Amino acid sequence: MTNAPARAVYIHVPFCLHHCGYCDFALVANRDHLIPQYLQALDNELQAQRRIVGEVVDVDTIFVGGGTPTHLSPATLRTLFRLIQQHFRPTTNAEISVEANPDGLDTERLDVLQENGVNRLSLGVQSFDDVVLKTLERTHTGAQAIETVQRCQRWIDNVSLDLIFGVPGQTAASWRQTLDVATSLPVRHISTYGLTFEKDTPFFRREQHGQLKKTPDELERQMYLDAISQLTDAGLRHYEVSNFAQPDYECRHNMVYWNADEYFAFGPGAASYLNGVRRTNVRSVVRWLKAWQQHESAVEDCEDLSNEEKAREAIMLALRMRQGLHIPVFEQRFGLSFAELAGVAFQQHRDDGFLTHEADYISLTTEGLLIADTIISDFL
Ligand code: SF4
Repeated sequence: MTNAPARAVYIHVPFCLHHCGYCDFALVANRDHLIPQYLQALDNELQAQRRIVGEVVDVDTIFVGGGTPTHLSPATLRTLFRLIQQHFRPTTNAEISVEANPDGLDTERLDVLQENGVNRLSLGVQSFDDVVLKTLERTHTGAQAIETVQRCQRWIDNVSLDLIFGVPGQTAASWRQTLDVATSLPVRHISTYGLTFEKDTPFFRREQHGQLKKTPDELERQMYLDAISQLTDAGLRHYEVSNFAQPDYECRHNMVYWNADEYFAFGPGAASYLNGVRRTNVRSVVRWLKAWQQHESAVEDCEDLSNEEKAREAIMLALRMRQGLHIPVFEQRFGLSFAELAGVAFQQHRDDGFLTHEADYISLTTEGLLIADTIISDFL
């Protein structure tokens, strides 16, 4: 089965002011001298893709993530957009998202974003509680985050917040207070993530040495349920395991991933999915830079997915959405029977109360949401 051509592009900007102890993204902190080399390497990577495609590509979504894209200076941000626009042309009403942190998002940078058509801002707020922010090693305060949300909304109407729960020492009351503040602000979209202790992060090592204590499972589960009830009560629709949005403000770029559609991706650690092939760039910023400075591919992993593998991925991704998997569309797209491919896993999880089958859709129940990753991985 052939997928529709990609109409989405992701650009990874791997620079931050500080490397937060829990973060395992591909990035560097305090190495801003690499920024000019990054832009040159990115230009080379974009041009190499252009030679394959042969023309400027019309896209419905552009997502500039990181890292902290707005850590770049206003002039550098301008250059970044110029590079992207040489190869990708946003269609009318395209969604153009940029990730940012509350500190450093000044008027000049907001002007550059607006000039370049950015119409969605994803702010890494994480919490409004200064104690929690300090534990997370964030470089902003709760008050700064509130001020930034209120200010940037004058430039960009569609503001999304990232929030984290399950932080060591964070209480249920602190989390509910953060949700209260978030829903009192002019935001269209909120993402909530449970903190994970990823291998090779300082948080992982500190947890192993008993210096950080994981949140008890029961409290973390309650925090997630509190998020669902407070955010939906505030009028946001729970549309994906971790994501909530006002009607029509779902993140269209992320929907491309969850619909198992194709996309371009550039930068260290970025993974593209084109013509049924997933290519993942090397995560090391320096290795990616060195490769592209010499016009050599930085792809570290390449998977040419079979139709069955694509179908299994599509099931897993669709189950992340609250709407779930539409069986007739799935079967038509992949020419496979859902029952033959995944009937055993489905029946077991339905019998256990984690999945439901209603009106041609299979989706997670509330109980299933609480262990979504476990349920979903059974369809691989
Ligand atoms: S600011 Fe965001 S991307 Fe940068 S290190 Fe912290 S969590 Fe990671």
